[in-house]
Amino acid sequence: MKPALDETHYSKVQSWVESANIAESDFPIQNLPFGVFRRRDAVAHARVGVAIGDRILDLNGMQREGLLAEKSVRLAANACASDALNPLMAVGTGPRRALRQRLHAILRLDAAASDRQAAARHLVAQADVEMLLPASVGDYTDFYASIFHATNVGKLFRPDNPLLPNYKYIPIGYHGRASSLVATGTAIRRPCGQTRDGDAEPSDAPKFGPTLALDYELEVGFFVSAGNRLGETIPIGEAEEHIFGICLVNDWSARDIQAWEYQPLGPFLGKSFATSLSPWVVTMEALAPFRTAAFARAEGDPAPLPYLFGESDQEQGGLDLWLEVSLLSVRMRESGIAPLVLGRSNYRDMYWTMAQMLTHHASNGCNLRSGDLLASGTVSGADKTARGCLLELTSRGKDPVLLPTGEQRKFLEDGDEIILRGFCERDGFRRIGLGSCGGAILPASAS
Ligand code: CA
Repeated sequence: MKPALDETHYSKVQSWVESANIAESDFPIQNLPFGVFRRRDAVAHARVGVAIGDRILDLNGMQREGLLAEKSVRLAANACASDALNPLMAVGTGPRRALRQRLHAILRLDAAASDRQAAARHLVAQADVEMLLPASVGDYTDFYASIFHATNVGKLFRPDNPLLPNYKYIPIGYHGRASSLVATGTAIRRPCGQTRDGDAEPSDAPKFGPTLALDYELEVGFFVSAGNRLGETIPIGEAEEHIFGICLVNDWSARDIQAWEYQPLGPFLGKSFATSLSPWVVTMEALAPFRTAAFARAEGDPAPLPYLFGESDQEQGGLDLWLEVSLLSVRMRESGIAPLVLGRSNYRDMYWTMAQMLTHHASNGCNLRSGDLLASGTVSGADKTARGCLLELTSRGKDPVLLPTGEQRKFLEDGDEIILRGFCERDGFRRIGLGSCGGAILPASAS
């Protein structure tokens, strides 16, 4: 069930934190995403906070001073006394919603003077902090939920048979690597690996060296809130109760390493060298106004099997979320040229809903735990402007992208920076954003 709309969604409510009222702000009072930050000054500890305009409300500080001591919010507030969001994720939907409502009351323009004065002492400028990974992720799973992405990529490898027969039945995924999840801004070292030219003879040996086909993947990640016990499943009708919120994910990919290693067991070192996350986790409550019907399957496509078919999920399991990926080369940066948008897509075009991915993941009794990260797979749409990776956009390098400097890109070069953004907007509601997720490419290690 999607969360109900309440006063925290009213578009007319403004905050006494003035920067939150600017139309372009990703973080108005209607959003209130959670993250983990560390002040750049002194010996600072990681703290849990909520973004409001260009500030952060330090929830550790609020909690320690007893400013979130009411019975209804105590459980969630105490869970913020941590250096990761896992305890807050674990408290589940009810306490999280109560905390959101309390924070909304504290931050609104007509808040009680005592609340406002107290909270003002715990505001930190986002410019003065380093944003960390939002959670300690035990397990990370990456799906492949865009039928447009799956078809485009499939066509490059199997022109006559792009989509494999399982695609419309199973939310396809693989187990990713949690240890190499990195926060936004972390530089990405170009990986080395085994590759072999596509036109090599079967008897030719592969070579080992830096990837020549480094790519990004524009994805959305969602965090597990309360998990399930080993051996138990999560029915589709309850799946959303197990989701905390979403962030942006860049699943960096080395296409040449991937192409040589992926059969028969799937992605491995072509993916596991790094995955970047945006720092602010936008909760399912904040997303409530932007939920939409699940993707309308084409005539003749099979209905989801009963365990993946939920009435409520079909009606409102989708999400109207715009996503954008941009590239900034070193020469563009030096010339003062703005990042070039390479793709714009919408999450409502995903073939599988978040609930279906989560339910499928637990359908064999696999236990999901608070803070686990599930990512959607590359979000692509039907149009060429809506492609979420270079592999699709350049047709595996055949059709390079032209940058404003005259440079061309088949795949990423050293120094290139990739920036992901995401936002929701709908008439009658305040636009909310996911912030951004950035990373630049460092040269391969000399070895
Ligand atoms: Ca991926």
